[in-house]
Amino acid sequence: MADIAYRIEIKGLVQGVGFRPFIYRLATRHAIRGHVENNNKGVLVRAEGDKKALHFFIRDIRKDAPEASQILFINIKKELVKGFPDFSIGASHSFSNEITEVSPDIAVCDDCLKDMKTQPHRLDYSFINCTHCGPRFSIIKSLPYDRNKTTMAPFKMCEECRSEYTDVSDRRFHAQPVACNHCGPAYSLHLPNGEVLEKFPDILNRIAGLLDSGNIIALKGMGGYHLACNALDENAVRLLRIRKNREGKPMAVMFANMKAVRKFLYVSPWEEKLLNSWRRPIVLMRVKKPLPFSVSKGLDSVGGMLPYMPFHYQLFEKLNTPALVMTSGNLSGEPVLTDDQVALKKFKSIADAVLTYNREIYNRVDDSVTMVVNGMERLIRRSRGYVPSSITMKQQTEGIFAVGVELVNCFALGKGDKVFLSQYIGDLKNPETLGFYDESFQHLSQLFRFKPLLVAADLHPDYFSTRFAKETGMPVEFVQHHHAHIASCMAEHYLDEKVIGVSFDGTGLGTDGKIWGGEFLVCDLSGFERPFHFEYVLQPGGDAVIHQPWRMAVSYLYHYFGEDFLRHNYQKFFSSVDREAFDMVLVMLNNKINCPETCSAGRLFDAVSALLNICPESSFHAEAPMRLESVADESISAGYTFTLLKKQVFFKPVFEGLLHDMERGEPLSKIAGKFHQTVVEMIAKVVDEISAKTGLKKVALSGGSFQNKILLAKTELLLQKKGYKVYSQQKVPANDGGIALGQLAVAAKRRVKK
Ligand code: ZN
Ligand code: ZN
Ligand code: FE
Repeated sequence: MADIAYRIEIKGLVQGVGFRPFIYRLATRHAIRGHVENNNKGVLVRAEGDKKALHFFIRDIRKDAPEASQILFINIKKELVKGFPDFSIGASHSFSNEITEVSPDIAVCDDCLKDMKTQPHRLDYSFINCTHCGPRFSIIKSLPYDRNKTTMAPFKMCEECRSEYTDVSDRRFHAQPVACNHCGPAYSLHLPNGEVLEKFPDILNRIAGLLDSGNIIALKGMGGYHLACNALDENAVRLLRIRKNREGKPMAVMFANMKAVRKFLYVSPWEEKLLNSWRRPIVLMRVKKPLPFSVSKGLDSVGGMLPYMPFHYQLFEKLNTPALVMTSGNLSGEPVLTDDQVALKKFKSIADAVLTYNREIYNRVDDSVTMVVNGMERLIRRSRGYVPSSITMKQQTEGIFAVGVELVNCFALGKGDKVFLSQYIGDLKNPETLGFYDESFQHLSQLFRFKPLLVAADLHPDYFSTRFAKETGMPVEFVQHHHAHIASCMAEHYLDEKVIGVSFDGTGLGTDGKIWGGEFLVCDLSGFERPFHFEYVLQPGGDAVIHQPWRMAVSYLYHYFGEDFLRHNYQKFFSSVDREAFDMVLVMLNNKINCPETCSAGRLFDAVSALLNICPESSFHAEAPMRLESVADESISAGYTFTLLKKQVFFKPVFEGLLHDMERGEPLSKIAGKFHQTVVEMIAKVVDEISAKTGLKKVALSGGSFQNKILLAKTELLLQKKGYKVYSQQKVPANDGGIALGQLAVAAKRRVKK
């Protein structure tokens, strides 16, 4: 039978993940002749052989693709047979402005861990990697992905590495960061007395000893520095919190292996799969055997992860403790540090030693945080291992720059029909973080050859992100915060039609100038209506409530029961609150001084958490709702009553019920569980009303409140039971870290309409 020839174009995440060697091996297996090469569109294959062999070859491209790759699109065209003598791998070409995907960083693979014990030139070599694993995004400067465009450029490959690099049958064929003991990066340990250790066995022994004896060490990781200490040593963890500027947030823990994870946390099969995936995120899991108090400050879940750099494995082999706190190497609120000189200076007062290595981190990326709800992954912080994977859109996105919002910033760039979300940036109010924003915008723009033509921003005029948008000098499309949340969820699910949107979060500026956050929308990508929202109450002291949730409890009680009730019951509910501050808040409420109106779901959770005395004062973002969720009994199946009237949801009966149950001395777990159930039932009731009027059956859930596992799990199940098709965020955070995708989707849609 005569041979035929195909030209096969593969797009998606196909570079830097061992795709060409994979194609080569596949071609050899199926007796295909031809050629494979990278270009900045993706991977191009020319394949010749008999029809049947080609059929299986093409089938197996999808079936057996490398784990970290992601094929979005295969285009196959028949062409004339050229008569290739064999199958060969070509170099990378850069010939158009269209871009390909860049691989996220990949955890060290099992084969490399084995090579570390057996390959003479890589014995105990901490920077071992291959085409299936190793740093990618964190070291890349521009495309196409080649060694000279990464921070590996200064390291000259030795003969041995080069022969592997050029051998198509080797696992390190064209592995750009390939390195060994003779030619690659190396660690050095800086001690407070100025001593610097350069010999690896000495470094490892010293660090293990220091950690086991309660010290804090700064470790240069893949995308930035970590601060590490023994997670089983309360004194060490408390000291770390104090030195890190009294940080309140729960801290992530790296466990030596699955056995150690299982000892301390409940792990479902889905969670285990995520923990072991090549992305190696931090996974939030429920506590089984409590870790020291300072790790998560009494919350019922802890973020756990497994080792992902060769060094992590080497360290645990030496350590006695099976668990290390691994928190971002920064001062509270600042971005994670990557610069070695800055790190050595800043960590002087925090760490008892600083471990660094001589390869530059070009793109800083924090650890990603994720969780599993109803059997599906839900990202909370999208960074290492996920960024810069793209999201494919229905609209053309070229040239749209969505700036994100202020507190949990992440921005997005539109390219073709794709969106590239930046890594987690952080709180832009911090000048260092604003610098990180700028740096990351420059880097990603260069990497993806992005030029802004249109900017999408939040309505809030004071956000730094909004100012950044205006400073570009480009036309700005303003997108309402809660509409953007729902649009983000829609974009993720490839939806472009009218849906019912439930958008719950802490704060976002509404079109009426008030603070929104308990929103029921009917929207498509271009616009929205607001058929229902929570009743407005006062937010005494504006942003002050964020640190003092008790102010919201006072506000709700004042709103429903008046000042007399509060004065009378001060001791009962607010004994932990300073009397003077309490009186001042009453004066503010009475005279409406510095009391913006809010209908935020986050503030409602704050109020209930404070009223139950679970969290009257908050030391980190969303602590009060997290603690309320943490104590809640999720098996409670009946909530409090509430009232729907004239497009609004009223909570007076809810607070009456809460007070009644508190009076009767019901356990907190029951009251908190009942409150969660109330919100779930309320969502279903309002959705029913909207659906009855509009006929809509698709519901999108988004906003930071849906990071609450109980709320999300129960709402999804109840709405599904009622026959709705429910969409929630998975690939992109439901919190403000996912909002840039929504801003971009709305701007793209409106641009088409214009
Ligand atoms: Zn490997
Ligand atoms: Zn070498
Ligand atoms: Fe929000």
